[in-house]
Amino acid sequence: MAEDAWDAAVSDMLARVAGACSPEETGARLAARACEMGEYMVKKVETSQGMEGTSDCEKGCGWCCHAQVPVSKPEAEWLRGWINENFSRAHRDDTLARIARNRDLTEGRSLEERVAVWDQTPCIFLHESVCRVYPVRPLVCRAWHALNREQCRRAFLARETGAEIDNTPFRNYILGVVRDELARIMPWPGGGVLPLPEAMACLI
Ligand code: SF4
Repeated sequence: MAEDAWDAAVSDMLARVAGACSPEETGARLAARACEMGEYMVKKVETSQGMEGTSDCEKGCGWCCHAQVPVSKPEAEWLRGWINENFSRAHRDDTLARIARNRDLTEGRSLEERVAVWDQTPCIFLHESVCRVYPVRPLVCRAWHALNREQCRRAFLARETGAEIDNTPFRNYILGVVRDELARIMPWPGGGVLPLPEAMACLI
């Protein structure tokens, strides 16, 4: 499939989902469908290229979960619905405290300043090196991967933002198209995407 045909197919399918559900459920439905479609395409392309299962990521590594995750509004709404159904009061309070701390240490700071504290600013959903929202994690989290997780560990410990992390060439592109289309169909008031802590502060 040509690149622009893939873009058009994503746009067309998400527009049909948006047209078929109520305003309250549109964001969550869009994000769920977008993730399903994006992951289906990633699997199909990686399989055809003999690259299926080459990722070296595993539960508990979590090095990449210290970078800022940008999310579209539908992704954040999907997270909110899932949190409302699955988080205890204690988990919710803990998440609110992490949001406040993360925003305090990162908002308005330069990249160098954020990197300097990235061991103190794990993702608001990372708990004991495991993602608390894994089934509904954002598209960026589904795209980030490594063929050798030792490269991620070294980059994290050396605070190297531009380190070469070997990966397959398809995931970032395919899931990036899907995320951009979600952000276009249902934008935040200022447009684009928001860092995860800021996005969730608006919604939970
Ligand atoms: S949402 Fe989950 S997978 Fe994504 S950065 Fe946070 S902890 Fe990691």
